[in-house]
Amino acid sequence: MKPPHFILLLIILQTLHHLPVILAVKYVAINDAKNYPGGKRFEKEIGIPYTLQIMKDINHYIWEIFQQKIESDRKQVGIATVFIRQYDGAEAITYGETVNVSALYLQGYQGNLKWEYTSLLHHELTHVFQWDGKGQAPVGLIEGMADYMILGYDFTARFLEYCEGLEPGFVAALSKKMRHNFSENFFVELLGKPVAQLWSEYKAKYGNIK
Ligand SMILES: [Zn+2]
Repeated sequence: MKPPHFILLLIILQTLHHLPVILAVKYVAINDAKNYPGGKRFEKEIGIPYTLQIMKDINHYIWEIFQQKIESDRKQVGIATVFIRQYDGAEAITYGETVNVSALYLQGYQGNLKWEYTSLLHHELTHVFQWDGKGQAPVGLIEGMADYMILGYDFTARFLEYCEGLEPGFVAALSKKMRHNFSENFFVELLGKPVAQLWSEYKAKYGNIK
């Protein structure tokens, strides 16, 4: 093949390849705090590849919850960006399409950092993709909707983690039982207690559940 044809072919192929991408959201994640303890902890316990993966997953989850199945229902977002930055203040702040996560917050967080970070991104990315009545919606409602996105991830998942802690293998066993039907009695069979009792014990132990 002569070079000009080859180049033309490349351009056509690239155009074809990039066409659907024009409408799709791009995800960018940057660790701007690599030289700080929080940035180092981020690299060790979370990382950029994980961030890019969950950004996409969370984005799709948000569309699903808001039932925005088609492009025209959705807020147009070009490039969603997550920055890990060294600053003192809120754990994370979102402006437009950009989420800033505090490296200081990551540094000081006690507990499962990856889990906390994933919850945090559910909240912050909701701000990127949610409608806000062109700025007229009350802040409490906007924040409530962002927290609502965490629930699906957090609420049941944390409870299941708690049950797993009581009886290792619980989640797998429950999943197996759920193949053909479901009964709340599965909890009694596996953990010896009704689910309502487990739930109140869990709440008593971990207090501030949203
Ligand atoms: Zn918020």
